[in-house]
Amino acid sequence: MPRERKGKSEKISSTLEMPFQVIEVKDLTDSAYIVSITRNAMPFTAGQHILLGEAGSTQMREYSVYSGETDEHLEVLVREVEDGLVSRRLKRLKPGDTLQVEPPVGFFTLPLARLPHDRFLFIASGTGIAPFHSFIRSNPDLDYTLLHGVRKADEDFGADDYNHRRYIQCTSRDRNGRFYGRVTDYLKKYPQPDFAMVYLCGNYDMILEAMDILRTQGYREEQMVAEVYF
Ligand SMILES: Cc1cc2nc3c(=O)[nH]c(=O)nc-3n(C[C@H](O)[C@H](O)[C@H](O)COP(=O)(O)OP(=O)(O)OC[C@H]3O[C@@H](n4cnc5c(N)ncnc54)[C@H](O)[C@@H]3O)c2cc1C
Repeated sequence: MPRERKGKSEKISSTLEMPFQVIEVKDLTDSAYIVSITRNAMPFTAGQHILLGEAGSTQMREYSVYSGETDEHLEVLVREVEDGLVSRRLKRLKPGDTLQVEPPVGFFTLPLARLPHDRFLFIASGTGIAPFHSFIRSNPDLDYTLLHGVRKADEDFGADDYNHRRYIQCTSRDRNGRFYGRVTDYLKKYPQPDFAMVYLCGNYDMILEAMDILRTQGYREEQMVAEVYF
């Protein structure tokens, strides 16, 4: 059931009463796909996540919003987890199917006042690239470098949406990416001490290891922001 919102959120409550419908499920790889959903004028801040599930199901999961703040539709990037309950069901959705969506929440967001002058390092594993896609679509002048850890080079999840000079794909299982190895190997080999802030998103182990490396390169706790998926 949609969470109750009060006061200022009157407009949000009314949009939540409208059904959220699937527009398209677009496969990016064998297991990763984008679900495009009617937005119903629901506002969000890039980096926030929604709770999503099939209509009538008690099972919902968190998904970062992948689309930009001013995009017409709401999009999420999902990896089908083997034996996963919700991610497998979402993959089989058809246009017109109805979804349950709980409004965007979360603090994995950019400090807007710092955007015009600061440089940001984004570090993602797998679908952890989703909030960064939303950051970049929502703020076209953002000064960023994006390290993306995947297994194989075809898991670039829409790399054309990034400035190619700023997107560094790190592949651990083939040599067709920009760097062969994990994002943590890249950070050790090419220290990145000059960013104002570092955002990390995805797998817990990657985030912990990367933060340890970043500390040795001089980063303080308040410069690092993390969103753990699993
Ligand atoms: C704040 C937040 C935002 C998230 N945003 C996204 C997103 O944008 N895209 C996305 O694909 N997932 C995202 N997730 C993960 C998502 O919520 C689900 O956990 C995932 O889709 C698996 O759900 P499931 O019902 O299919 O699996 P379940 O039946 O719940 O099984 C969960 C199992 O899958 C593992 N698992 C969860 N996610 C992954 C993964 N990506 N790869 C491999 N194993 C995994 C868990 O460790 C656990 O063992 C997010 C999680 C959080 C907390």
